[in-house]
Amino acid sequence: AAGTARLYTEDDPLVLLGSGSLKRSVSSNSSSAWLVQFYSSWCGHCIQFSSTWKALAHDVQDWDTIIHIAVVDCAQDDNFDICKEYGVSFYPTFRYFGAHASPADLGKTYRGADRGVQTLRELMINFLQNHTRLGKPDHCPPLEPFNLRDLLPLLGQKSAHYTAIIIEHPTSYVGREVILDLSKYTGIVVRRALSTDTPLVDKLKITAFPSAYLLHPNGTHTHLHLYMQLRFFFTSFLRGLQGVQRRQTKDHSAPNHMGALSEHHSTDPWREFDSSKVYMADLESALHYLLRVELATHNTLGGEELKTFKSVVTVIAKLYPGRASVQKVMENLLDWLVRLPLESIPYQAILDLVDDKMRISSLSLGAEVRWVGCQGSRPGLRGYPCSLWTLFHMLTVQYDASPKLLAGTGTEGDPAAVLNAMRGYIGTFFGCEQCGRHFEEMAAQSLDQVKTTEDAVIWLWSKHNQVNSRLAGSLSDDPVFPKSPWPSPALCPACHQEKEGVHTWNEEQVLAFLRQHYGAGNLSPRYLP
Ligand code: FAD
Repeated sequence: AAGTARLYTEDDPLVLLGSGSLKRSVSSNSSSAWLVQFYSSWCGHCIQFSSTWKALAHDVQDWDTIIHIAVVDCAQDDNFDICKEYGVSFYPTFRYFGAHASPADLGKTYRGADRGVQTLRELMINFLQNHTRLGKPDHCPPLEPFNLRDLLPLLGQKSAHYTAIIIEHPTSYVGREVILDLSKYTGIVVRRALSTDTPLVDKLKITAFPSAYLLHPNGTHTHLHLYMQLRFFFTSFLRGLQGVQRRQTKDHSAPNHMGALSEHHSTDPWREFDSSKVYMADLESALHYLLRVELATHNTLGGEELKTFKSVVTVIAKLYPGRASVQKVMENLLDWLVRLPLESIPYQAILDLVDDKMRISSLSLGAEVRWVGCQGSRPGLRGYPCSLWTLFHMLTVQYDASPKLLAGTGTEGDPAAVLNAMRGYIGTFFGCEQCGRHFEEMAAQSLDQVKTTEDAVIWLWSKHNQVNSRLAGSLSDDPVFPKSPWPSPALCPACHQEKEGVHTWNEEQVLAFLRQHYGAGNLSPRYLP
């Protein structure tokens, strides 16, 4: 009905269906299965349950070529007819549709809105395993256990891909979850085997369950010893193997523009790097790009733009943890902006200062991009936007370590000083407009909840992960550096935990990790000119 709040939006990783699209989607020879929730936006239980349904959709978003999660709002006038046709009279009602369902198929009903994510996920797997042959989604990998007879021919054989085997108790779902988590990935095949399969378990010498066993393309095989034997650890490890790549499916990015932002010279040599380090070369390239390329599209800066620019220069000049010479250039720029309180400033004057045309300090900013930790596997990927995130994460951590550094700037005491500067910059100058709009939405929603400098560090981390999750698999996702929840278990095992079968973060550990990772002590000068 008009006026009711929408419980789900396009930003949730699920499909919004209605009278015009339900039948067309679920029963017009769909290659995937569907789990649809018919709800009513005025039903209190549905409102409460929406957070579980969204958490489920996030949890299984990489299964969507096999099974889609969808919703139909039966309180919307346009949907009255379709809800009636499907015989929905209680909310929420859940219906499962196998692949290739016929238009007469009204789905299998399941009631159980009081269940958590784990139960619902297991229910999805049961549905996937128990459908008829026709109802099997086209891309559904085998979920049945593997045995010694299947395994023996593979041992010691070279192959074009990895094969991972999760060996688990018969009641465990981890193996099937990992199989589905990797269903969009190439370069790897995942199977499961059972702890009760004595010949196989003896052959591989497995004694604890679940365990993961990996057959490498070169014919060798190993038992994987991960920090925790949890779904998230298995999935994340396997996705990170060299040569394992996500198939690109989504396209809700701004690929052309992002391409332009990540200007990269394809003749550049590849620079080996360590993803547990932060490279000064990336930060300096970010500053060069920001000041000489992005800003150059503005002939003069005045009013709000100038204020925003000043606030960005302030946080960089005061908090930049890299080379002193670079910080000095930024300080000179800030001094100049403060000393000459002009209404508007021609861009050329800023450029002259950065290039040290006035010979104030005989210091200037390196005039080239040299991506290291932000290198993309091909031109147009990563680069500048990557370095901009890196820069602002560093600044939030630096400010948290030494809040006094902003003394006398007019922003001291504001825990969100760095975030406000970033918000202004992204909204005003960042060339990817769509990115700016998304970021502004997130900031408007929750930036006021930042009460301490620690909150600020965590806020940016958490919003960045939200962006990563939205962009995973999109055109701006570099297949060699796929977007995933960060830090990975390989970078910070203690940051991860599981509650009731759902991955959660240990935020205390995340904060400790961010302080170390983005701390001045973790900056590498390697590859600086
Ligand atoms: P990036 O996401 O750029 O991350 C850079 C580095 O930061 C990573 O390599 C990693 O070391 C570290 N990192 C990753 N996650 C975290 C985290 N959660 N906390 C701390 N550190 C982390 N592109 C779009 O297509 N659409 C958008 O709407 C969009 N919005 C953006 C908004 C902002 C504010 C910015 C700066 C960029 C945005 N981009 C957007 C670009 C996109 O987020 C990536 O920057 C770009 O695709 C390059 O990705 P990347 O793989 O290099 O990693």
